[in-house]
Amino acid sequence: MVAGLLPRLASDVVGDPAAAKAAPVAAEVDPSPDRGPGRGADASPDAPPETPPAGSPAPPERPGKRGTVYLTFDDGPDPRWTPQVLDVLRRHGVHAVFFEVGQNVAAYPDLVARVRAEGHLIGNHTWSHAKLTDLRSRAIRDQLDRTDAALGGRARCVRPPYGATDPRVADVIGARGQRTVLWDVDPEDWAKPGTDRIVRRVLAQVHDGALVLMHDGGGDRSQTVAALEQVITRLQERGYGFGLLDC
Ligand SMILES: [Zn+2]
Repeated sequence: MVAGLLPRLASDVVGDPAAAKAAPVAAEVDPSPDRGPGRGADASPDAPPETPPAGSPAPPERPGKRGTVYLTFDDGPDPRWTPQVLDVLRRHGVHAVFFEVGQNVAAYPDLVARVRAEGHLIGNHTWSHAKLTDLRSRAIRDQLDRTDAALGGRARCVRPPYGATDPRVADVIGARGQRTVLWDVDPEDWAKPGTDRIVRRVLAQVHDGALVLMHDGGGDRSQTVAALEQVITRLQERGYGFGLLDC
């Protein structure tokens, strides 16, 4: 049901470089605009939407009729942006999985508590936003162990930063009883392409079971916060409901 649980081709999982460049606890460090993930043919930022443009007649649909969308947020918790993301989600009654960086978890335990108290789930996004494919297996386990310890228990889901995984990384994660969770809708909000573009990209890529990647940390997320409001509203208008990954 959840496509993003399966490791995907390496060429298909680049993305999420935002926090890599940012010191995990320093929220205001951003990638320079030309440090895009280089997705080649996949890079077209504004593929045509899968549904008729706004204004086309569309039958009214009840929420969820078109399918379920799963929201995920990476690289937090962040004292400025995570509360704003939580506010939007709470206003709409939508829950999400937050893949948090261990260093940030240790720095902002009150934010972690709020995320949980409002019904969201937390996954392990490594201690220092490490590229796991570059690490020895022992170092991978250390990244995950430290984060799990900060979270107070072993997270059920792990999202490797940058989506960088391979059979060895996947085995290390799986041997711990954890699941690798990637994504299949990436509006590249980390690059701050503009609120409208973030919204359009999600709407263009969305499908039943879509696993959407956005960021509540790693830099200025004001566009993400603004886009999230519209993403939720417009997906509901299109007949999508929101689900919570089993993490
Ligand atoms: Zn990340």
